[in-house]
Amino acid sequence: MKTSIISWLLFHANKSKDKKFYPIKNRILEKYGRKTDTVVQFIEGKKCFNCRGTGNHTYYDWNGFAYDHDFCWNCNGSGWYKRPRWNWLDVVQFGKYSFHQPYATTYESPTENVHQFEGYVEHTNTKYTEFALFLIFLIYERGFINRWWNNERHGWRSCWWLPRNWIKNTIHILKHGRKSYPFRKRVKINTDDLPF
Ligand SMILES: [Zn+2]
Repeated sequence: MKTSIISWLLFHANKSKDKKFYPIKNRILEKYGRKTDTVVQFIEGKKCFNCRGTGNHTYYDWNGFAYDHDFCWNCNGSGWYKRPRWNWLDVVQFGKYSFHQPYATTYESPTENVHQFEGYVEHTNTKYTEFALFLIFLIYERGFINRWWNNERHGWRSCWWLPRNWIKNTIHILKHGRKSYPFRKRVKINTDDLPF
C-alpha cells in the first residue's frame, strides 16, 4: 500500500523540473528502489559554427588565397561546440514505475553491449504533478510548510472560482488582510496628469 502510494507520487512529481525535488527523489529511490538495468542515452554533439567542425582556422590573403592554417580559436581545434556524449543511467524499479537515474557521462561510444537510446527523457507535467510534488515535499522536506507559506508565487489568482486557486487565494487574503486584492481600492488614473 505504502509502496503504491509513494511510487505513484514519485512518478508524477518526477515530471516537474523543480531542483529541490531531485535530492529527495534520490533518497527515496535509494531506500525503496531496485536496480534492474543500465541504459545509455546518446546526446548528439554540436559542431563548432566557426570552423564548421573542421577544427581549422584558415588565413586568406587579399586575393582570397589560403596562406596559413591554425587551430580554430573557438573550439581549440576540436571541431566541437558541444561534444557528443553518452549518459549512463540506472533503471530503478519502484512499485510499478521505472525511473532513470544518471550516474556517469562519457565522451566515447560504449564498447559494452548496453541498451542505447537517443535524445532526452520527456519531462512534461501531468495533471497530478503539482499535487504529487506538494505531498512529496510535505512528507520528505523538513520546514517545507514555512517555505511554501512564504512562497512569493502565492499571489492572487484572478480565476478565483477554480478549485486549484482556492488555497493560493486563501493564503493571499490571510497574509494581506484588507490590503489583499479583492478588497483593494482601484486607483483611477487621470489621463490629464500623464506626461505624454
Ligand atoms: Zn572550431
